[in-house]
Amino acid sequence: MTAQTGYPNHPKIAIYPGSFDPITFGHLDIIRRAIMLFDQVIVAVARNREKRPLFSEQERMEMIKNCVTDLPGVEVDCFHGLLVDYARKKGATAMIRGLRAVSDFEYEFQMALVNRKISEDLITVFLMTHDKYSYLNSSIVKELVSLGADVGCFVPAYVKERLYDKLRKK
Ligand code: ADP
Repeated sequence: MTAQTGYPNHPKIAIYPGSFDPITFGHLDIIRRAIMLFDQVIVAVARNREKRPLFSEQERMEMIKNCVTDLPGVEVDCFHGLLVDYARKKGATAMIRGLRAVSDFEYEFQMALVNRKISEDLITVFLMTHDKYSYLNSSIVKELVSLGADVGCFVPAYVKERLYDKLRKK
C-alpha cells in the first residue's frame, strides 16, 4: 500500500473504465453510486483495439459528458495502454467496475487480481447495479435499435438520438 491512499486530506479519485459504446442507464446508475463514495470519478473511455466500436472515442466521450452535466465531480476522459498507468497519472486510488450478474464475476475477478498483481496501489471496487438494469448492456441496445425497437427505457434521449442517427440513417 502506498502513502497516496493513506493521506486523509488527499481527494479520493476513482476511475470508471469501459467501452461505453454507448453509455446506458446501467452505466449511469454505477456512476451515480460511485460519486457518493468518491470526491471525483473519472469516466474513462477505453481505446480498445480488439473491439470495433460503433462510436468513435470522441463521440462516446461527448455522449457521456451530455449525460453527467448534473453530477459535479464526474469527469470524462479517454485512455489507451495500461489502465494502472493511467490511474497512477490521474492520482486515482480506485477503479470502479459494475456487476450485473454472476456471469460478470469470473472475468471481473480475474481482471481485479491481475491489476492488483501489476499495481498494488489500485483498489478495484465493485458496485452492484440496480436490478432493473442487471440485464442491460450496450450491445443489446445497439441490436434493438438496428431492429427498429424504441430504446428510450435503456438510454438517455440524447444517446437514443445518436444511435438512431448512426444505425437507422445508413
Ligand atoms: P458493456 O459493453 O458490457 O456495456 P462496458 O465496457 O461499457 O461494457 O462496461 C464498463 C463497466 O460498466 C463494466 O464494469 C461493466 O460491468 C459495467 N456495466 C455495463 N453495463 C452495466 C449495467 N447495466 N449495470 C451495471 N454495470 C454495468
